Amino acid sequence: MSIAGNIARVYEKIAAACARVGRDPQTVTLVAVSKTQPPEAILAAAAAGLQHFAENRVEEAGEKIPQIHLPSVHWHMIGHIQSRKAKFVPQLFEVAHSVDTVKLAGKLSESAAAAGKRLDVLVEVNVSGEQSKSGFQAQNWAIENAIFAQLCQEVGQIIALPNLRVRGLMTMAPMTETVEDTRPVFASLAELQAALAAALKIMLPDLSMGMTDDYPVAIEEGATLIRVGRAIFGERQR
Ligand SMILES: *Cc1c(COP(=O)(O)O)cnc(C)c1O
Repeated sequence: MSIAGNIARVYEKIAAACARVGRDPQTVTLVAVSKTQPPEAILAAAAAGLQHFAENRVEEAGEKIPQIHLPSVHWHMIGHIQSRKAKFVPQLFEVAHSVDTVKLAGKLSESAAAAGKRLDVLVEVNVSGEQSKSGFQAQNWAIENAIFAQLCQEVGQIIALPNLRVRGLMTMAPMTETVEDTRPVFASLAELQAALAAALKIMLPDLSMGMTDDYPVAIEEGATLIRVGRAIFGERQR
C-alpha cells in the first residue's frame, strides 16, 4: 500500500467512527506520527494532503523539521520532553501534547517567551494508573476528591503561564488484549476534560487520544486529535 492509499483508508475509518456516534469528521484532526520515518515519507504524506505531523524526540525533530519546507505543515511534539530540551520546543513545534509536569510547563512558557511565541499545549494525564506511563496522576480522579483537587490546582498553574495556550488533555492508553479495553480510559479522559473545564471555568476544546490500534474507539469517545503512525507509514524504520 502507498502512503496516499493508507491515508485514504484512515480517513474512511475516521468517517465510519464519526458516523457511529453522530460526529462531524471535520472535528477530528489526523496527526501523522512520522518518528523514525525519513523526510521523503513526510513529503509523500503532505502531498496526499496531510497538514499535521508529530515527532516524539526533540533531537530527531531538530534534524528533520528544517528539511521540510512546506508552509502547510504544522508540527506537534508528542514524546516526553526532558527539561534541558524544553528550550528547543517552541522553535520547532506549534503544539506540545506531552506537558507532564508544572515545572516543564514553566520552562516551555519561558522558552516560548524567549522565541517571541505562544505555544499550544495539551496536559498529559495518566488516567489508567499504568506505572510506565508519564503524565499527571489521575487514576480514580472521579471517586477521590483529593486527586481531582490536585489536578485542578496543577492545571490552574499551567493555565496561568503567559506564553502557553492550554488546548486540552492528552493520554496514552495502556496496551490491552482487545481494543475495546481502551474505551474506559478514553471515556475517563473525556469526563475529566469536562470536569476540569467546569471547575476552572475555562475552555478545554481538545482531546488528544488514539493511535493506530485504537483511534476509532478514541474518536467514538470524543478525540479531536488522533496520533497515527503505523497505519500511515507502515512499520517503523528502527
Ligand atoms: C508513536 C506514537 C504514536 C503513534 O503510534 P502508532 O501505533 O504508530 O500509531 C502516538 N502517540 C505517541 C505518544 C507515540 O509515541
